[in-house]
Amino acid sequence: MYKILLVEDSKPICSFLLKKINRNLNISVDIASTFKDAKKLIEENPDYFLALLDVHLPDMDDTTMVDFVLNKNIPSIIMTADYNSETNRNFSKRNIVDFVLKESPESLNYIVSLIDRVLENSKTKVLVVDDSKVVLKQLDKFLKNQLFQVFPAISPLEGLKTIEKNPDIKIVIIDYNMADLNGVEFLKIIRRNFSKNKIAVVGISSDESSSISFLKHGANDFIKKPFIKEEFICRINNTAEALENVIKLEEIANTDFLTKVSNRKYFFEQAEHYFSIALREQNSCAVAMIDIDNFKLINDTYGHVMGDEVIKSLAKLLTDNVKGQDMVARFGGEEFVLYLKDISPFFASKFLDQICKKVAKQMIRVENDKYISYTVSIGVATKQSMTLSKMIDDADKLLYSAKQSGKNKIISDLVIA
Ligand code: GH3
Ligand code: MG
Ligand code: MG
Repeated sequence: MYKILLVEDSKPICSFLLKKINRNLNISVDIASTFKDAKKLIEENPDYFLALLDVHLPDMDDTTMVDFVLNKNIPSIIMTADYNSETNRNFSKRNIVDFVLKESPESLNYIVSLIDRVLENSKTKVLVVDDSKVVLKQLDKFLKNQLFQVFPAISPLEGLKTIEKNPDIKIVIIDYNMADLNGVEFLKIIRRNFSKNKIAVVGISSDESSSISFLKHGANDFIKKPFIKEEFICRINNTAEALENVIKLEEIANTDFLTKVSNRKYFFEQAEHYFSIALREQNSCAVAMIDIDNFKLINDTYGHVMGDEVIKSLAKLLTDNVKGQDMVARFGGEEFVLYLKDISPFFASKFLDQICKKVAKQMIRVENDKYISYTVSIGVATKQSMTLSKMIDDADKLLYSAKQSGKNKIISDLVIA
C-alpha cells in the first residue's frame, strides 16, 4: 500500500483530510505536527510516495521543510493558509506537485483529488516528441513533478519506436514544427493505429494556427508555447483524467456486473476479430458453451444469493484455467461461452473435459459448515466454420445433446464426427 506523509499543525484540518483520504483512497497516512517529527518520520521511512506539507509550522520558516523533503526526493504538495506573491515566488521555482490554498473544504477536497491524480499519474506513461532538447527537458521536469512516467523522443521516428516498445503509452505530447515531419503528420500516423480513447494526443506549438489542424486530425487537446507551467499541468492532468474515465466506462460496458468476466456484447466484438484472423491465417480455434446443470434447483433450495455465488465460482474457475489469449464470457443466466485460440480439436476437447471434472470436484460453502457441489454440461465446436455464429450454434446443439444424454459431461464434434 502507498504511504504518504501529512505535516500539519491544525488538528481540524488534519482530521478532515484523514477522513477524506481514508474514505476515498487506498493509502496509509503518517502524521507529523512539527518539522522535528516530520524529519524523524522521514528518516524512518525514506520511501514516502508523497508528502503534504503545511508551510507554516511553529518550529521552522516557510521553505526549510519543503527543501528538506524535496532533497529526500519525496514529491510534495504544499499547503498554506495565506497566499501572497512572495510565497508564490518561493515555491513556483521548486519541483513541487502543486501549491494549494487551505481556504475552504473545497480546497481540501481538491488536495484529496490531487493525491488520487498523482497516484494514477505514477502508473501513466507519457511520450514527449519535440526536436528541441530544451523543450524536452522542460516538459520532462513538469511531467515528472506530476509523477508521470516520461519518455522523451527527439524525433517522430524515435517517438514511433518508443510506442512500439511501450504499447501501454497513454498520452503523447507532440510539437508541431519538427525538422523531419510536422506534428500533425505524426499525429495522423498514430491515429491509424490508436483511437482517441486508446492514446490521448496533445499538440504543442508556438504557432497558434496549428491548433485547429491538430484538433481536426484527432488531437485531444492543444497547448500553446511558451508554456505557462500551471496551465500545462492542468491540461495534461485533465487529459489523463478524461482518458481514464473513458477506459473505466468501456470496462463497465464490456463487463458482466456479477462475475466481472466479459459480457455477451464484448464477446462478439472480440471473438469476431479473433475469428477473422484465425480464418485468414488458417489457425484452428474452438468455441465451447457451458451451462450449469439443474441450476434452478440450486436457486430454489439455497436462494438466489447462493445461486449467484455458484455462478461466480464457475466464472472464476473458467478464468483461472484458460490461457491469457482465450476469452471467457457470460452469455446470460448460468450459461458461459469460451473462445479458445490456436487450439487443436483434440486438445480443446481434452481441456474442456478437465474443466468439467474440476467443476464437479469443487465444493462451494453455502452455510457455516455446509458445502455443496454442482456440475456443468459442455458443448464444444472444433470443426472450423466460415462464421463464428455457426460455431456458436454448433456448440449450442452439442450442449443440448449433453443435457439430453444425462448432463455432467462434454460433447464435442470431434467425438460424434
Ligand atoms: P438444466 O440442467 O437443463 O440447465 O436446468 P437448469 O435448472 O440449470 O436451467 P433452467 O434454464 O431451467 O433454469 C435456469 C435458472 O437460472 C432460471 C433463472 O431463474 C436462474 N437465473 C438466471 N440468471 C440468474 C442469476 O443471475 N442469478 C441467479 N441466482 N439465478 C439466475
Ligand atoms: Mg520544433
Ligand atoms: Mg442450466
